[in-house]
Amino acid sequence: MANRALVISLSLIMQISIYTVQDVDANINNDTADYSMNEHEYNENYDQHSDILEFDTENLITADESFQNPEIETINTDIKQENKRGIDLDKPMIALTYDDGPSKYTQEILDLLKENNSAATFFVLGSQASKYEETIKQMIEDGNQIGNHSYDHKRLTSLNDEELYDQINRTDNLIYEIALYKPFVMRPPYGSTTEALIDKLQKPIINWSIDTRDWESRNAEAITEIIFENVKDGDIILMHDLYESSLEASKIVIPELINRGYQLVTISELSESRKVILRAGQTYYKMYK
Ligand SMILES: [Zn+2]
Repeated sequence: MANRALVISLSLIMQISIYTVQDVDANINNDTADYSMNEHEYNENYDQHSDILEFDTENLITADESFQNPEIETINTDIKQENKRGIDLDKPMIALTYDDGPSKYTQEILDLLKENNSAATFFVLGSQASKYEETIKQMIEDGNQIGNHSYDHKRLTSLNDEELYDQINRTDNLIYEIALYKPFVMRPPYGSTTEALIDKLQKPIINWSIDTRDWESRNAEAITEIIFENVKDGDIILMHDLYESSLEASKIVIPELINRGYQLVTISELSESRKVILRAGQTYYKMYK
């Protein structure tokens, strides 16, 4: 097993050395010499310290400190080690994201993704996760990513610190209890943030570059039209797995995006492919080459 991991790591290093990203536009400062943890390292670290399930609100470390890991001296190799779907770093990719679930429609979206050798990122609510534990487990088993979207969709900017950490911690702890996975990324409800809030969240904030406005139209045709007219390599697409129309749109969008040459990947896969370091305290909208 160790040998296999080494071989995979070496082959990745060779591949990465010939793969150069010239200009990654992710709306952030680029700094590829950073040793921040990625999603998987964050979870390994969390596993080892699973007795520490609460933020210490008295002694908050800064966002950057919380993600530093000086023992990691090479760029991460997780994308290849975890790359069961055979992602091609050179080919266009899109991150589909679904907010506010899970719901009764989510399982079907998971089936669709799996059938199409694809994955997405689900920004779940703790209150919904508690009702759909099997769906949460399935998300992780199938290689999707889970992000924290608060416990019950509170506007986080209106909360005091105690309420804020309760929204975040309850959700993180619940997901961890269900799937042994701690959400690495965050999407605040309504995309509503302030600089002070972002610092407190201690997670990379993931917004979007294409808003399907599915919550408004509740119309599969309108949703697919917005996506097909705007989609580009590196986009992050916002949908909600709360509406049947969004499921219906997904049935069209997922195979058609693949047909157009896109790979459907998680936020972590997209960032790793584009050599974008996801940092706590930063906001990401897209990851264009
Ligand atoms: Zn939401």
